[in-house]
Amino acid sequence: CGIVAYVGPRDAAPILLEGLQRLEYRGYDSAGLVVSNKGLKLRKVKGRVADLAAAVPARFKGSLGIGHTRWATHGEPSDVNAHPHLSNDQRIAVVHNGIIENADELRAKLTADGAEFLSETDSEVLAHLIARTVADTATLEEAVRLALKRVVGTYGIAVLDAERPGEVVVARNGSPIVLGIGEKEMFAASDVAALVRYTRQVVHLEDGELAVIKADGFHTFTSDARETAKEPLVVDWDT
Ligand code: GLU
Repeated sequence: CGIVAYVGPRDAAPILLEGLQRLEYRGYDSAGLVVSNKGLKLRKVKGRVADLAAAVPARFKGSLGIGHTRWATHGEPSDVNAHPHLSNDQRIAVVHNGIIENADELRAKLTADGAEFLSETDSEVLAHLIARTVADTATLEEAVRLALKRVVGTYGIAVLDAERPGEVVVARNGSPIVLGIGEKEMFAASDVAALVRYTRQVVHLEDGELAVIKADGFHTFTSDARETAKEPLVVDWDT
């Protein structure tokens, strides 16, 4: 339902929680976040963003992170089914909005290949799929791009790799993703409402487009790996 991502010099968790709170009006049944700091740190709960905030320790350090509010479509609302979902080696973390239509088929193939599924969601296939792809690619963006070629359905996603602690990859197909450009920090979200406290400069992704965000900038490209040129928009919005 809602996605927030942060890359920059600050601690990500408070920024993610603040952004998720701004998406509460959309409705949701659970919330979660992961931050990266020499390994991934995960908290996710059935309930409100306030419940998630209460579950995140004060010293939850990591200046790279992704957060999610879930509106369950596949699997009941529960702590385990809440996003983010991690690969079995705890290297890849994914948040997803939308519906993966070929999730059953992908799940069967990934299970046969040794993946152990923890949740009942369609979304978890993305974590296992990207984890298998990333072993053979030079970059996280290439792993996400290739993994998404095997996916049928709608998605807005944000992906972290514990071994690449300076970037988040996002992608959109039928579910919105917007980038927020800050001062030596970058954001991404499913809704500009999550970003306006931090920046007014935004870039909307198109369907079939992906982006890498890093503290010092971003670049966007298509599912065929062609770079796209995007002009930032300035949003006028009262917070
Ligand atoms: N289909 C996914 C799930 O049920 C994502 C739902 C959403 O968009 O929040 O977990």
